Amino acid sequence: MLRIRNYINGRFHDPVGGEWIDNVNPATGEVASLIARSRVEDVELAVDAARSAFSAWSTMPAKGRSEIMLAIADKIKQHAEDLALAETNDQGKPLWLSKAVDISRAVDNMSFFATEILHTRTDAYQTDVHVMNYTLRQPLGVVGCISPWNLPLYLFTWKIAPALAAGNTVVAKPSELTPMTAFLLAELCIEAGLPPGVLNILHGYGPECGGAIVGHPAVKAISFTGGTSTGKTIASIAAPMFKKMSLELGGKNPTIVFDDVDVAHTARHVARAAFTNQGEICLCGSRILVQRSIYDAFRSAMIAETQRFVVGDPLEADTRMGAIVNEAHMNKVLSYIQLALEEGGTILTGGRRKHVDGRCAGGFFIEPTLVEGLSGTCRVNQEEIFGPVAALIPFDTDEEAIAIANSTEYGLAATVWTTNIQRAHGTAHRLESGIVWINTWLMRDLRTPFGGMKQSGVGREGGTEALRFFTEPKNICLQL
Ligand code: NAD
Repeated sequence: MLRIRNYINGRFHDPVGGEWIDNVNPATGEVASLIARSRVEDVELAVDAARSAFSAWSTMPAKGRSEIMLAIADKIKQHAEDLALAETNDQGKPLWLSKAVDISRAVDNMSFFATEILHTRTDAYQTDVHVMNYTLRQPLGVVGCISPWNLPLYLFTWKIAPALAAGNTVVAKPSELTPMTAFLLAELCIEAGLPPGVLNILHGYGPECGGAIVGHPAVKAISFTGGTSTGKTIASIAAPMFKKMSLELGGKNPTIVFDDVDVAHTARHVARAAFTNQGEICLCGSRILVQRSIYDAFRSAMIAETQRFVVGDPLEADTRMGAIVNEAHMNKVLSYIQLALEEGGTILTGGRRKHVDGRCAGGFFIEPTLVEGLSGTCRVNQEEIFGPVAALIPFDTDEEAIAIANSTEYGLAATVWTTNIQRAHGTAHRLESGIVWINTWLMRDLRTPFGGMKQSGVGREGGTEALRFFTEPKNICLQL
């Protein structure tokens, strides 16, 4: 059986402890490969390699780093079909989605930051005629990047690309649920000529392997994407060590639909925002606030759109929703559907585990589920479910919509649907959310700041924000 090994100092290694974790394909329920179970000893090796590689990598001209990163982007593009299949088999999402979104975005992440570093500027301040200040931005050293399972290669590269581009060396850990594409990336990095030790990829459980990365004194910064409770644990270790931290955490995102919209068109997009990737995107809109005057019409349109999300074998072209990432997560999502009933909700469509015949008979599937009749403050509408479950919530006034939208502890993303430009901007300005989309969803420009408020995170990724995070500013003051 294939073994997913650690990539340290430019070579593949078995874990020091010799232990392996089963890697299950969620669409079939079968063990597909074995994952290195790394612990503190493996992290030591990776950090040593990264420290040794830092001097040469950080002093290489930006153009040199850029060329190597563009070569990696090119390799990902050349192997897009294989990577997409690996992503789907690991994560459960439809193959067409892996190709269209995950792998193509991994190419974009690498090439965006590879070229971004060729166009940076720095600040200079003339204090008076004889005094000049200028600010250097220098790489931090060894940094840690820890990513989740929902968009595996997409989010892994979203972190390592700015870290490497800025001249840092990296110890990175993908999720133990979806390690395959990061493992395949390591081979592509070797082929692309990335010097040994610049990027080290470790596999294993979060507290054992991720925790050892976070707690290692030589790791200067942690870029983490994952759950809010994990973010708290990481912060409790890294903050007393005064490490820089970028924490991209959970969400419970509102979608606000005002009564001036085209109902059919909007319902189509709102359903896409709720159920894409089995609802396993931190940006999915799971609280759908609908103005009461169009509520009935919108509910009918939403039921129809939700039912268009055909659940099935992720390898089939007409499948719109694949498998839930693993059995434990499937059971968690199903428990929230049960909770919705206990909290007085009505299931409008879906609500059950879906059994798929043939190759996927042992897989973990859930019907796309739409609920109504729940208050904005109940647990189903306050806690992150991270699956194909969305609730309709009626509202009367703009004020009420904004209050419900802002009523959770999260503040990651929000979407506003309206044809009234003042309402659109007025609402967007008042939402407690790091990202607001108006009449669209998941539209991304990699230059824009990305991240959440409140319990959804600390710091921003993307464009110059990411390069700033991965560098230390140093002001130099010169008396002429
Ligand atoms: P998770 O927090 O369980 O795990 C994320 C990563 O952290 C994994 O690699 C895991 O192994 C590691 N980890 C776990 N415990 C750790 C510890 N104690 N120390 C160090 N590392 C540890 O999250 P998940 O279940 O993989 O992902 C789902 C969550 O991620 C959801 O809450 C979702 O909203 C969030 N997410 C947020 C964003 C964003 O940009 N804000 C994007 C995607 C996903």
